[in-house]
Amino acid sequence: MAEKIILDIVTPEKKVLSESVDIVVAPGEEGEFGVLPGHIPFLCKLKVGELRFRSGTSARHVAIMGGYAEVLPHHVTILATAAEEASEIDVVRAQAARERAERRISEAKDKLEFARAQGALQRAVARLRVAEKK
Ligand code: ATP
Repeated sequence: MAEKIILDIVTPEKKVLSESVDIVVAPGEEGEFGVLPGHIPFLCKLKVGELRFRSGTSARHVAIMGGYAEVLPHHVTILATAAEEASEIDVVRAQAARERAERRISEAKDKLEFARAQGALQRAVARLRVAEKK
């Protein structure tokens, strides 16, 4: 049988998933990276974006709201601020969050308000992109 990787995704609120997979592709802060079984160990920060993984012919997509990845040769642990699988994403909520964030960006009175609204916009856009792949 082909070698596998255990992928665990957890947030402060819950265990999102634990799966045996063939490949993981994650949104590293310095760029997307792929992990196959036997990868050298490393730790890195994740940005807001999409994580995808494949097991056999089935591919799944998860929206990741930033966090950390620990990569070991046969185990990837994602500690995310928040994470939702494509099928769990509430599209109406994410659309409302995007509209709210766009309004806040246009009305921002200082850098902090602007940065917060930009963060909210990135999260909403990531959720909407991933939701399209369910
Ligand atoms: P909102 O303004 O809609 O709350 P947000 O980006 O501020 O969005 P987060 O702080 O990232 O939300 O997440 C808070 C909690 O809500 C987390 O548990 C997250 O998984 C969940 N969540 C946020 N938006 C969605 C969504 N569109 N669909 C499903 N779960 C969501």
